[in-house]
Amino acid sequence: MFKKAPKKAPKKAPVWAAIAFAAVTSLGTVGVATAQDKVLNLYSARHYQTDEALYSNFSKATGIKINRVDADDAGILARLKAEGTASPADVILLVDAARLVKGDAEGLFLPIKSPLLEAAIPAPLRAKASVDGTTWFGFSTRARVVAYDKTRVKKADVDTYEKLADPKNKGLLCTRSGSHPYNLSLFGAVTEHLGEAGTEAWLKGLVANMARNPQGGDSDQLKAVASGECGIALSNTYYIARMMRSTAPADKAVMDKLDIVFPNQATWGTHVNIAGAAVAKNAKNSANAVRFMEYLASPAAQDYFANGNNEYPVVAGVKSNNPALTAMSGGPFKSETIPLAAIGGNQTKVQQMLDRVGYK
Ligand code: FE
Repeated sequence: MFKKAPKKAPKKAPVWAAIAFAAVTSLGTVGVATAQDKVLNLYSARHYQTDEALYSNFSKATGIKINRVDADDAGILARLKAEGTASPADVILLVDAARLVKGDAEGLFLPIKSPLLEAAIPAPLRAKASVDGTTWFGFSTRARVVAYDKTRVKKADVDTYEKLADPKNKGLLCTRSGSHPYNLSLFGAVTEHLGEAGTEAWLKGLVANMARNPQGGDSDQLKAVASGECGIALSNTYYIARMMRSTAPADKAVMDKLDIVFPNQATWGTHVNIAGAAVAKNAKNSANAVRFMEYLASPAAQDYFANGNNEYPVVAGVKSNNPALTAMSGGPFKSETIPLAAIGGNQTKVQQMLDRVGYK
């Protein structure tokens, strides 16, 4: 299966490769007895240049041609729903746990049983297994961290998520919409730690501390801190890494104004989210889809998948090799360990709290 692996692949076959050769992957309720085309239809919410190498290496190694449809997460889920059993999609790549949980709840994914993936992907970063198998797996992580104006804000005042709601940070906080999946996932995590009442009070505190109404994306919050409109922002690490690696003077100027803190290092750890994959419920090439997902757990693919968007690889033994990420955290950091399936499962509850506290 991996005989024609690209040059980057290690010579000595690691454990995952041995499992891949031996594994008899069973596919939930759909039989795969009929011969499948050497083709894989991929719906992807990723749009990073290094992914091209990721896909062409898979095609080179397996002879399976990849047809790709690009859309954002919501667009992909809507399309899968609309297409129903006629959908050509085999494998789905999404960039947030809340959306993977949503797609799963809507029955859009096929449970699979892959010993390789069960062994390679840490349990908190995949769907809870049922008797039919597991529906989605995370293949990279990103942390949701705090960026702040180092001339106006002290690190000690923003080094936990809880402190962002402290009245001393009044008029400083900027975030994207509370309903954006990145925030739904973070707030879903906080719900696991503080309970519902505690989280609603915390969200109320965040709203009270806003410098402006929630708007824009994470990069816009970073720019607004640099311009002085805000003092504190929430951002995923890859947006910050992208800006750190940028040669554009405007990006450099933004980063000169900011410091970054990985929250809750002394307590439950910084919230991390995932980019992940699932086999489509009505996949015609489901065996190829599983093969592709197993390929994503290989060391070379992990490197492309994570580094393509300045994220962290998830497979044990595969190290992040990204100078911007290392500089940002100053080395290894403590991540939260609550299963993302539980966090994503809180999103409806979180949305109701957001409505009650007026977090747009
Ligand atoms: Fe993003």
